[in-house]
Amino acid sequence: MHDFDFDLLVLGAGSGGVAASRRAAALGARVGLIEAGRVGGTCVLRGCVPKKLLVYGSHFRDDLEDAAGFGWSIPSASLDWSKLVAAKDREVNRLNGVYLKMLADSGVHLFFGWGRLIDAHTVEIRGEGGSQRLTARYLLIATGSSPIRPAIPGADLGITSDEALSLPGLPRRAVIVGGGYIGVEFAGIFSRAGVEVSQVLRCDNILRGFDEELRAAYASEQRARGIALHPNQTILAVEPTTDGGAQVLQVRLADGTHLLTDLVLFATGRRPNTTDLGLAEAGVALRGAPDRPSAIIVTPESRTSVENIYAIGDCTDRLNLTPVAIAEGRAVAATLFGGQPTAIDHHNVATAVFGAPPLASVGLSEEQARARYGEVDVYVSRFRPMKHTLSGRDTRTLIKLIAERGSGRVLGCHMLGTDAPEIIQALAVAIRCGATKAQFDATIALHPTAAEEFVLLREPRKPTPAHS
Ligand SMILES: Cc1cc2nc3c(=O)[nH]c(=O)nc-3n(C[C@H](O)[C@H](O)[C@H](O)COP(=O)(O)OP(=O)(O)OC[C@H]3O[C@@H](n4cnc5c(N)ncnc54)[C@H](O)[C@@H]3O)c2cc1C
Repeated sequence: MHDFDFDLLVLGAGSGGVAASRRAAALGARVGLIEAGRVGGTCVLRGCVPKKLLVYGSHFRDDLEDAAGFGWSIPSASLDWSKLVAAKDREVNRLNGVYLKMLADSGVHLFFGWGRLIDAHTVEIRGEGGSQRLTARYLLIATGSSPIRPAIPGADLGITSDEALSLPGLPRRAVIVGGGYIGVEFAGIFSRAGVEVSQVLRCDNILRGFDEELRAAYASEQRARGIALHPNQTILAVEPTTDGGAQVLQVRLADGTHLLTDLVLFATGRRPNTTDLGLAEAGVALRGAPDRPSAIIVTPESRTSVENIYAIGDCTDRLNLTPVAIAEGRAVAATLFGGQPTAIDHHNVATAVFGAPPLASVGLSEEQARARYGEVDVYVSRFRPMKHTLSGRDTRTLIKLIAERGSGRVLGCHMLGTDAPEIIQALAVAIRCGATKAQFDATIALHPTAAEEFVLLREPRKPTPAHS
């Protein structure tokens, strides 16, 4: 005889919630999963997957241009953006179906509607057919995050990444506000698709938090591609105006600059989805001021301030990536139903920016490594990729390895250039195993590749006065 309807009730069928539900069900738990929208969450519907498909779609422009250097003559080529978006939608819908089937096969009970905590064991679901209440021994909040717009006049005239992934047609010009990875990725997609892109940055450069040398190299690559960067700028307003008789938008910046554009994309950050969930009423502590609560506070095992309520993924704002939400979700299932209290190690998680070109990193940047370890050895190689000796494209690949001086332990690997995410993912295994520079050196190269450069780095860079 059970006291509760379920052993585990999960709010949110995104990356984390689905992974936790399936793993808990596999461990024998009776699981209910509540979703307010469609199953799959941000990654499948509004994030990683649709974005990467648009990255692939826009990349053909580079491929077609590069082909000429290899003897191909391609008389003319054009992108039908609406066809690309339709193909992307078909794949996203297919994946949504796969998720639904996986959940049904795993015995998870799916409920559609808005879930809200009534107390520490009860959730009310408000759906199209009315509302119902369910109880569970444990609750798991996996409600993700949403894009935010700046609080400026005309903010509603712009779009966010949610809409950018499904634009019916391409604008001639776009202003992207924000220099984080989402802004940089859309700058790459749009510019490769032939859109004139300007990017407005609050700080001095794109991709704050990444290795400074890579950030600087990335900015040069973007400028070479024709993307106009506006660093150290604040956006004051977006206003409708006309340009040669056409309705367009004007972006006003704090230094007096006015940018005329057909589209404004706000890539200005995301907010954890923690409102209207009944969290305060249930006693779940949040970060931030009481009138502006933000992320849910959790222990390393993802337990909230209430003993039987857990939270994972973007709504906890730890490391907002799909594989992290999945790992956190599976860890909660192992903790609650597998008899194995499990915490996720958020260090040395590889991360990528699928821009033009892509960038990827694992471990510490040079700045972080120096701050933590003092003396480090830094190995850098910047080279023209073999493909572009014939294509003629003016681009350089940058790879960088940082090792602890003395032990030689590799602290960070970074790459800007084609295939960087694929290469860094593989190197992340070596870093997790604590590999040393000597072990990298002892690895015989796979030739000819760009990745081989990581095992061919000989001399550390001579310390500059700032680094000695
Ligand atoms: C444009 C973009 C690109 C990205 N690219 C990458 C990438 O390349 N690689 C990567 O690793 N990460 C990427 N991310 C981040 C990644 O998508 C998120 O970190 C991940 O989806 C978070 O998973 P989650 O389970 O926490 O939340 P989500 O996947 O967002 O799922 C939350 C779910 O909860 C539901 N929900 C919310 N409130 C309620 C409620 N009250 N009741 C019921 N259901 C509710 C929502 O409808 C949603 O389905 C990207 C994100 C964006 C926006």
